[in-house]
Amino acid sequence: MSAVFLGSFVAPNSLPHQKQPRVAFLGRSNVGKSSLINLLSGTKIARVSKTPGKTQTLNLYAINERWIFGDFPGYGFARVPEQQRKLFQMLVNRYLNEDHFKYAIQIVDSRHPAMPADLELHEWLLSSGLKHLVVLNKSDKLNQKERNATEKQALVSFPGAAIIFASTLTKEGRREIDKILSNL
Ligand code: GDP
Repeated sequence: MSAVFLGSFVAPNSLPHQKQPRVAFLGRSNVGKSSLINLLSGTKIARVSKTPGKTQTLNLYAINERWIFGDFPGYGFARVPEQQRKLFQMLVNRYLNEDHFKYAIQIVDSRHPAMPADLELHEWLLSSGLKHLVVLNKSDKLNQKERNATEKQALVSFPGAAIIFASTLTKEGRREIDKILSNL
């Protein structure tokens, strides 16, 4: 396993040109985007924060010289100023519309799988025609009954997406996500 930090980016036109397939990790602050990047890369390269809402940059990592992972700023935590929202959308658009873009991984908290910001992002991904996966993270926090309820709700809330339960603690979901990435 190898992971190289390529930098933190705020402006859409500063993104580096890399030829590997790009994957975007999107989701509200604190859902486990950085933790998932660490799990999938088998490294500790992405900073896992205890303070929600801190990351305001797009952090790029070259993983195993095979993929570029983009750890996007968390959305939906507190109120994001309109101007920042716009910049974020431009950054996402730019990253996702480059030739090498392949896949979006939307991470949601499996205890609260259908927050308004999550539904909004999902709709936007659908309308942009981007292939994507919804990861229901922190599955370790659910009992079987809650898990069933979450699954039901997710199927209704995220039509048209593949859906996988995951936990960066128990490593649930890692193999399935690895498999998807290997086929990009
Ligand atoms: P990000 O803001 O989306 O990048 O989220 P982080 O990766 O920084 O994680 C936020 C917090 O959630 C940290 O305290 C992590 O240790 C914790 N966390 C991440 N994934 C899981 C998980 O699968 N299960 C549990 N119980 N905690 C997790």
